[in-house]
Amino acid sequence: MYIVLLGPPGSGKGTQAEVLSRVFDAGHLSTGDLLRDILENQDHPLYPKVQVIKEGRLVSDEVVNQVVEDGLKRPEFRNGAIFDGYPRTPAQAAALDRMLAARGKKVDVVIDLDVTKDVLLYRLLGRLVCPRCKRIFHERQGLAECPDCGVELVRRGDDNEETIMQRLEEYKDKTAVLQDYYRNSPAVYIRLRISDASKTAGDVQEEITDRLRQHNVI
Ligand code: ADP
Repeated sequence: MYIVLLGPPGSGKGTQAEVLSRVFDAGHLSTGDLLRDILENQDHPLYPKVQVIKEGRLVSDEVVNQVVEDGLKRPEFRNGAIFDGYPRTPAQAAALDRMLAARGKKVDVVIDLDVTKDVLLYRLLGRLVCPRCKRIFHERQGLAECPDCGVELVRRGDDNEETIMQRLEEYKDKTAVLQDYYRNSPAVYIRLRISDASKTAGDVQEEITDRLRQHNVI
């Protein structure tokens, strides 16, 4: 099963990707996580090319496509992948179609998380991440450490208001066109509107499951 999650920064792609990865026994491929790993390794050949992340700009299509192509070779993706943060441009979508076609596969489902700006800002400005397992929390939960790893939770360097606004603009400019790309593709297209900050990840998960059932995907 190959699923693409669309949605602006803070829309919950990472959280839902984790759940879907368990449901479908498919790997969770987060380009943000893969690129941040490179950012922490000065010896990596792509290290200079991922520095733009710090300004909230997109990494070049060429670099990201390479990172995904390499990532997909890992054993956890033998049954499929849940793409979180990829593709983000039509050129990346075309590259993904080619990568999957080479394996005799295609994007099966697209889930578009349509979250309002107020909800996004509330979530991103309060977001805390476990540096080890990458699980995501919110400061309203009052946790200092990851309950699983016991490691101190941190804020991401790019979760500040200025960079967030830049990322939302980038999303509108570049990624919104992917909605048309996938609506005109054979993939099942599921759009969820989220305008209420009190809606939990579990609520969204249930809605996704219902919609996947309606489309006979599960
Ligand atoms: P967010 O969705 O909150 O912006 P991500 O973890 O998905 O966070 O991505 C963090 C940063 O990594 C992005 O702002 C961008 O600079 C870079 N990035 C991630 N995925 C891609 C991609 N598919 N294409 C280009 N840049 C990417």
